[in-house]
Amino acid sequence: MQYVSTRGSAPTLDFEGVTLAGLASDGGLYLPAEWPRLSPDEIRGLRGLPYPRLAARIMQPFVAGSLTEAELLAVCEAVYGPFGHAAVAPLVQLDETHWLLELFHGPTLAFKDVALQLLGHLFEIFLERRDQRLTIVGATSGDTGSAAIQAVAGRTRSEIFMLHPAGRVSDVQRRQMTTVRAPNVHNLAIDGSFDDAQAHVKRMFTDAEVTGVLNLGAVNSINWARLMAQVVYYFSSALQLGAPDRPVAFSVPTGNFGDVFAGYVAAKMGLPIARLIVATNVNDILHRALSSGDYSAGSVTPTFTPSMDIQVSSNFERLLFDAGGRDGAALAEQMHRFEATKVMQLTNRQREATAALFTSARADQTETARAMQWASRNAGQVIDPHTAVGLHAARAVAMAGDIPSDVPIVTLATAHPAKFREAVERAIGVRPALPARVGDLFGREEHFTTLGGDYASARDFVLGHAARRA
Ligand SMILES: *Cc1c(COP(=O)(O)O)cnc(C)c1O
Repeated sequence: MQYVSTRGSAPTLDFEGVTLAGLASDGGLYLPAEWPRLSPDEIRGLRGLPYPRLAARIMQPFVAGSLTEAELLAVCEAVYGPFGHAAVAPLVQLDETHWLLELFHGPTLAFKDVALQLLGHLFEIFLERRDQRLTIVGATSGDTGSAAIQAVAGRTRSEIFMLHPAGRVSDVQRRQMTTVRAPNVHNLAIDGSFDDAQAHVKRMFTDAEVTGVLNLGAVNSINWARLMAQVVYYFSSALQLGAPDRPVAFSVPTGNFGDVFAGYVAAKMGLPIARLIVATNVNDILHRALSSGDYSAGSVTPTFTPSMDIQVSSNFERLLFDAGGRDGAALAEQMHRFEATKVMQLTNRQREATAALFTSARADQTETARAMQWASRNAGQVIDPHTAVGLHAARAVAMAGDIPSDVPIVTLATAHPAKFREAVERAIGVRPALPARVGDLFGREEHFTTLGGDYASARDFVLGHAARRA
């Protein structure tokens, strides 16, 4: 499979190339040159496969030319075998209409493990082949950092430097990063905000002093391999609910638009998806864009669903490109104007094409808390606040009659409730316990380095501790 950039001028790359590159050299994001299609018969033939086998079947066309079927299956078994639930992504029924898809059975209790565990393995395979080393530098406000550290810890060809804002991530999130003891893991607590940490990271990628000696890599959701891994659970859950002979709708708690874009890919591959509900918190740029065509960035309001507190959703560019007719030059112009003005109006073609599949809804903090209470009272399920935003949106769209009543609606449960236990406890009065597999998190020793808020401190630390480019 070859990959093209959404901005039309970067070179096409194969799967190995896009996995190591992350962002395209023209500032765009990579997408497959064409969507592989599965016929209804082929989809029926996937029923009953164990998750690792299904994952290998779904991902095979995307990795063709870079991994053999046997190599891909071996990776999928290594990645998904150790998950904390045999089904990897089990479905739980809430009532006749609503279901939860539990995506938090990986090592750090959020859905990001499903993709980052795979990415950690892929990096190692491709770096071995090229006899290269990779220095991953990232900034995190919580979930991505811990999932990326778990994915890279102990590997020989990659190392990770993860910056987090000192004192501004939850205890569980910080401990999930700092209690990992491996020589290739470096946790840096920055005196500043998440935006400061993120700005340092961006600057390192364009700092010749750094890029001259280090081979830098990124793990954020602009990396195509992450989205690819997420396509699989749309298939696994829809197959259990009767696909391809019955359409299914999904409600997706959304921030950077990675997870819900994977649902769009599943639909492009032939999975009958009735609706993709984009669920946002009060940081609702995507809800505005999809309901009125107005994509304009404001400032971020902090909420108790921090993983969805975003101003700009990087992966939305992928949808605008594909739904707008794949005109890279036109999209590059549209994105450059947006970057300069922070305002964008979707074209008619983009609006019509997105309206065919996407619906959106937003939840404020009260609605989010009520959704946690509803799940607890009516279905005996304790859910995390991000999942609750999705469930609120699912119920609102169902009650408005926008989805036929015989279509099951699956809300993606993106984090384990124990990861956000303070917010859960405030909403339902119950403090969810950490699962046994991470049970001694509060007994383990933490390792991190505290740095000042300036760029030079962060850069000098990375340069002083990273292994040089091979
Ligand atoms: C990252 C995250 C999201 C948002 O996912 P995107 O792919 O960025 O849209 C939602 N919920 C949780 C718990 C997350 O960690």
